[in-house]
Amino acid sequence: MIDLRSDTVTKPDEAMREAARAAEVGDDVYEEDPTVNELEARAAELVGMEAALYVPSGTMGNQIAARVHTERGQELLADTESHVVTYELGGLAQHAALQVRMLEADRGVPTPEQVAEEYVEEDLHRPGTGLLWLENTHNARGGLAIEPERIAAAADAAHERDVPVHVDGARLFNAAAALDVSAAELTAPVDSVMCCLSKGLGAPVGSMLAGSEEFVAQARRTRKLLGGGMRQAGIIAAPGLEALENRADLENDHDHARVLAAGLAEFDGFDVQEPETNIVLVDVAETGLEPDALLERCRDHGVGASPFGPTTVRFCTHRDLSDGDIERALEGVESALNTA
Ligand SMILES: *Cc1c(COP(=O)(O)O)cnc(C)c1O
Repeated sequence: MIDLRSDTVTKPDEAMREAARAAEVGDDVYEEDPTVNELEARAAELVGMEAALYVPSGTMGNQIAARVHTERGQELLADTESHVVTYELGGLAQHAALQVRMLEADRGVPTPEQVAEEYVEEDLHRPGTGLLWLENTHNARGGLAIEPERIAAAADAAHERDVPVHVDGARLFNAAAALDVSAAELTAPVDSVMCCLSKGLGAPVGSMLAGSEEFVAQARRTRKLLGGGMRQAGIIAAPGLEALENRADLENDHDHARVLAAGLAEFDGFDVQEPETNIVLVDVAETGLEPDALLERCRDHGVGASPFGPTTVRFCTHRDLSDGDIERALEGVESALNTA
C-alpha cells in the first residue's frame, strides 16, 4: 500500500538504526544520558530557545506546556481547529484543569484584534486568560505554513496582556522549509514550542519541547509527573539527532504534495485545497461518497489516506515515498473512483 495516511508512518532508515546501535547512553532521569543531552541542546539551538526537553510524543509535549504555563481554572485561547482541542482527548481539562476559549481564526492564527476581544481579565467572576495557543504548520486547516509576521502580531498582542504564547509546531520544520526561513525565526516571538521528530523528519519516537531554562526545568518535573521520565533514552534519541538533520528533505515532501494535489484536482468531484506543505486536503462531497467509503475503495486499490471531517480526506506525503509512488497513488485513486 502507498501509505498517505500520515507522515508518522515512516520507518527509521539505516543511518538512524546505526545511530541507535552506537548511541552512548546513561540514565536520563539523572540527566546522565549524553545522547539525550546532545539532542536537547541541538533542538534548543535550532528553535532559538534556551533549553529543550525530549518527550515521548507531541501530545505529551503540548500537555506539559499547557500545564506549566497556566494556573488551574484559567482559560486557554485557541483556534477551533487546533490539534490540542480536537485530537488530544480533552487533555487540557484533565491535566491542566483549563477552560478553552475557542475562536475561528483566519489561517488558524488570531489577529491582534481577536486576541484583544477574546482576552479575559481575571476578577472575582472571570478566570483570566492563561495562554495563547498557536499551531504551525496548521494541520487541520491543510498544513498551512504560518508566516512569522502573523505569529509575531498575535504573540505581541498576548504579551501586552501578560499572556504567554505556545506554538504547537509538530511540523514546525515543514513551515520553515516552505517559507524559507529558519525555525528560530518562526519561534522568536513566542515563549515555548513543541516540535515532532517522528513526523516528516522520520525519527521512530519522540518530540522536543523548548523554552526558557526555567520553563524547561518545570517541564522536566511535569514530564516525570506524567510518567514520561525515561532511562537509557539515548537509544531513541540518537535517531532523533539524525532526524533533525533531515530538515532540507522536507522540500521533497512538499514537491510531492504539489504533484499529488495537481493530479487529484483532475478527478471529478474532488475539490482540492492547494497545499503549502506536505498535507493535501480534498473535499470529496461532490463524489457522492462518504470519506470512509471512498477510503475503503482507495485501500482496495493500494492507497491509504485519512478521513478528516464529514466530507474531507487528508493525504500526507513523507520521506518514505518516491516520485513513482505519487504516480501510482494517483492511478490507485483514479481506479477507486471509477469502481462502481
Ligand atoms: C501529530 C500532532 C501532534 C501530536 O503528536 P504525537 O506525537 O502524535 O502525540 C500535535 N499537534 C499536531 C498539530 C500534530 O499534527
